[in-house]
Amino acid sequence: VAVVRKKSVAGRRPAGELFDSNESVAWGRRNAALLTGAAELVNSAWRRSPALKDRLERAGLAAGKVKPGALARLAPIRKRDLPVLQGAGDDPFGGLLTRGRETLQYLFVSPGPIHDPGLRGRDPWGMAHAFFAAGFRKGEIAQVTFSYHFSPAGLMFDRALVSLGCAVVPAGPGNTEQQVAAMRRLGVTAYTGTTSFLKIIVEKASEMGYRFPGDFSLTRALVAGDGLSKEDRESLAQRGIAVRQAYVTADVGAIAYECAQGRGLHVHPDALVEVCDPVTGEPLPMGEVGEIVVTKLNAVYPLVRFGTGDLSRFLEGNCACGRKTPLLAGILGRADQVTKVRGVFIHPHQVKEAAGALPPDTPVRLVVQRNRGLDSLLLLVGMRGTLEKGIEERIVSRFREITGLRVAVSAVVPAEIPSDGKVIEDRRSFTGADSGE
Ligand SMILES: [Zn+2]
Repeated sequence: VAVVRKKSVAGRRPAGELFDSNESVAWGRRNAALLTGAAELVNSAWRRSPALKDRLERAGLAAGKVKPGALARLAPIRKRDLPVLQGAGDDPFGGLLTRGRETLQYLFVSPGPIHDPGLRGRDPWGMAHAFFAAGFRKGEIAQVTFSYHFSPAGLMFDRALVSLGCAVVPAGPGNTEQQVAAMRRLGVTAYTGTTSFLKIIVEKASEMGYRFPGDFSLTRALVAGDGLSKEDRESLAQRGIAVRQAYVTADVGAIAYECAQGRGLHVHPDALVEVCDPVTGEPLPMGEVGEIVVTKLNAVYPLVRFGTGDLSRFLEGNCACGRKTPLLAGILGRADQVTKVRGVFIHPHQVKEAAGALPPDTPVRLVVQRNRGLDSLLLLVGMRGTLEKGIEERIVSRFREITGLRVAVSAVVPAEIPSDGKVIEDRRSFTGADSGE
């Protein structure tokens, strides 16, 4: 595959096999520049963003006079804070935006519900770096299987592919047979979506009598939203598909991505990433596991110190690919009880809301399991006897409305649900390089 120089893909100066010359700047220098930029952002954005002004007041920081070294005193704003903040007043963006919402390019409604702004620009979420590192180049025909429906996912990836000069098949999720048919007939060379859905497509293709490679042109994939186990990576490689991961959220866009070395996920050169104590929000020493806290210099949506709720740690040492940005060890778990399934966050209160058709105080527990790399959800309901069909159906459909995900419901004797206050039990194992999103 010919190397497309940056100039032709994004109007920037070429940097060989790197997308961006910022990827090869010494990280200490880059980090210091981002920290200075973040302080400048805070010192100007608070005037237009009431939510940011409140946060500064609560941290005891003087609005307009925050020094880079004092930024870590600003408590992280967390994903779970967003629905609360946005649900409270008249402003659907909870005072987080610095401009009127009519100036946005897109207005999204993500599960939560969380209103996410879509900004103007070529690649507003900074995803092109991740695609470039995964080997995507101009001329690729890329099938996007993330949802374009209300959520930003589809467009986040789509816009970056277009900015790289790729052709996009905007497939969205589901319709597996049609996905296979399009992939074959259109000569799709690249996939982007979740790992689990790529596996479903590969399985469906074999049911339909086709084989990877041979009947398809697919050679690469960028996955996000769920993990990528070593086994999945190897089995997909055997089918001729080189898979790389990106770590991205709807709120801040691209955070980290794998290069061809596959040792970990490089921090995006435009992201100030801290690994912090999940309780205090203070940065931890190098190598310790903590919550990923991200700041991007976004003047319209200044989510300074955004706590992702995902756990990771920085890896020591340089990467052979030439990028100087530090490596994250993938996602090592969740910082709180909120869990993430197929890229969607599930909060304990959402589980209780979905179970609203049950008599009050009925014990419920959502069990998240991973079987052969696929995540599944089972809602245990503690009760004597069997669950009425009508009630079960109401729970399933309400759960789907709230989270967009399918859940199975099963009645168990109340004693089978431990009274430990946990509403969500994540039985998936997150280990080292096993995950990352
Ligand atoms: Zn690398």
